[in-house]
Amino acid sequence: MGKSLIDGKEIAREKKALISEEVEKLKKDGIVPGLAVILVGNDPASKTYVSNKERTCRELGMHSVLIELPETVSEQALLNQVAELNEDSSIHGILVQMPLPDHINETKVIETISPEKDVDGFHPVNVGRMMTGQDSFLPCTPYGVMEMLDYIGADIAGKHVVVVGRSNIVGKPAGQLFLNKNATVTYCHSKTTDLKAFTRQADILVAAVGKVNLITKEHVKEGAIVIDVGMNRNSEGKLCGDVDFSHVKEVASYITPVPGGVGPMTITMLMFNTLKAAKAIRDKTAAV
Ligand code: NAP
Repeated sequence: MGKSLIDGKEIAREKKALISEEVEKLKKDGIVPGLAVILVGNDPASKTYVSNKERTCRELGMHSVLIELPETVSEQALLNQVAELNEDSSIHGILVQMPLPDHINETKVIETISPEKDVDGFHPVNVGRMMTGQDSFLPCTPYGVMEMLDYIGADIAGKHVVVVGRSNIVGKPAGQLFLNKNATVTYCHSKTTDLKAFTRQADILVAAVGKVNLITKEHVKEGAIVIDVGMNRNSEGKLCGDVDFSHVKEVASYITPVPGGVGPMTITMLMFNTLKAAKAIRDKTAAV
């Protein structure tokens, strides 16, 4: 890849090698980091995500458990399943694949996961800790973005970061992580008028929307770093991001491709969080 491309696959490969070494060390102490994934229903995209997570767990020597529940499962049965995993000492991380069927309250499910096993970083305890700058599980996609910027040695303090998108899982926490690193942060969203006026000011531009080619060359300042979180299919069915890559790369100093950018980092940070959970639970048990 060229100098200005941020190669998420390579950064993920290096990070995974480090995680795998740490897993081996933990195993010598008799601990195998374990991730439980709950999948409700038959959504094909969710199934693909979940099998990628299982495969990566195995690759890194971690224990992985997949619990598949039917679309019709009751909310209470799902909550009971989460509660059981909270008590299971072979499991250090719990992830419930979203979205859930309409009859299940996602917030209730997230709040039932023990914050110590919340490797997605969605529990309000972890969100609050992140906001107040304390140690916590960071949501995997924004965490992956920060790791990529760290890898290329990007300066963040004092930079103007514009985040397009404000979802709880990507946009909002991404902005917070940049703020924690002393950036000046602007959020844009669907009600923002004149998006370009904001994005053109960005030293670092993060697109997390889900719209093909939303960000064109005209949205980007010369020399900006552009991070494309979007995962879409274009009219030919090809996987692409939110950024008009072929034109934006002419003005950006660095840019992430889709595929091969943020995607591989997300799953890697999930593995990192599971390792972190296993270590924290070990330390807590040892202290008792
Ligand atoms: P989401 O919950 O649908 O949020 C989309 C955000 O974009 C919302 O905040 C929305 O604003 C904003 N938006 C919509 N139209 C806009 C416009 N025209 N101009 C500016 N903002 C606009 O999506 P998400 O879960 O955050 O995911 C965003 C994208 O990232 C998707 O393509 C998703 O597939 C991808 N993703 C990738 C990874 C990965 O690992 N690479 C992980 C997670 C998600 P409002 O708040 O006003 O509605």
